[in-house]
Amino acid sequence: MEKKNLDWANLSFGYIKTDKRFVANYKDGAWDEGVITEDDKVVLSECAGVLQYAQTCFEGMKAYETKDGKVVIFRPDLNAQRMEDSAKRLEMPVFPQDKFIKAVADVVKANESWVPPYGSGATLYIRPYMFGSNPVIGVKPADEYQFRILVTPVGPYFKGGAKPITIKVSDFDRAAPHGTGHIKAGLNYAMSLHPIVTAHEEGYAENMYLDAATRTKVEETGGANFIFITKDATLVTPKSDSILPSITRRSLTYVAEHYLGMKVEHREVLFDEVKDFAECGLCGTAAVISPVGKIVDHGKEICFPSGMEKMGPTIQKLYDTLTGIQQGTIEAPEGWIYEIK
Ligand SMILES: *Cc1c(COP(=O)(O)O)cnc(C)c1O
Repeated sequence: MEKKNLDWANLSFGYIKTDKRFVANYKDGAWDEGVITEDDKVVLSECAGVLQYAQTCFEGMKAYETKDGKVVIFRPDLNAQRMEDSAKRLEMPVFPQDKFIKAVADVVKANESWVPPYGSGATLYIRPYMFGSNPVIGVKPADEYQFRILVTPVGPYFKGGAKPITIKVSDFDRAAPHGTGHIKAGLNYAMSLHPIVTAHEEGYAENMYLDAATRTKVEETGGANFIFITKDATLVTPKSDSILPSITRRSLTYVAEHYLGMKVEHREVLFDEVKDFAECGLCGTAAVISPVGKIVDHGKEICFPSGMEKMGPTIQKLYDTLTGIQQGTIEAPEGWIYEIK
């Protein structure tokens, strides 16, 4: 199929309207079959549950072309499971996991000409999302829901290589103990907008959030999990019930252990020990890994030995191995690469 005529390598991480999207509706206690449609507009009651009480959750994944011309997605079963977990926590109906994966594949297929070519660095970002659609004014879950999947081509996250970023320790909290930090709820992002706008104004790329209860332990940023590398090359990832379980982080942990023979630890990480790590990175679907060069804690700087010029050597190895697996140049563990065509 002929590709759209886009300047793939220079796309930003922004929305471009593509040809087709998936829409399913939940009514009278059941999901309909859903359709692939050209209609990009959502028409809702002025009193829709999502508009009044933010009853909405989402997922983020990507489709891309491999070296041998296949179109694939990465571990969609984990997105389907996480969307189920998010829906349950928000009292929303679960969209069945097998149908979720099929719908994702159908939307990608329907927009095949929008899948960026291999080697461009760009990907087709996939956004499944669900929201309460009928009128709700007394506080309760909606009775009707819409589940949609849109796709949009996005450019390489780092143009001209991944430069380490500087982040700050935030005075705001991202998630409360026993709250909704572990699910992909829209509300988690709404409340993070003020902290991130403030951080950007101050010249920082991201916020490091600490645990809300004691402010002594590392949680995550607004949209990415932390990974740390010790001086003897152990991968350490923070553990907390209010961290969003990143699929990238879980995949990197597997890669570290089974491909690179590294020691891995998933445990509570005190902010006080961060200064002793050799490397630090942020991980998520969009960038895979963003290296962190410096963390500023109220004027006190933690500068990692890996510096501000390039990724540290161990994070670079993790990055190269995982992206190699994703692109089909390194053999993937069973079930990681889901072929669409
Ligand atoms: C989506 C998300 C991540 C990254 O998860 P991936 O599955 O790796 O894309 C990390 N933190 C938060 C808060 C998120 O919403």
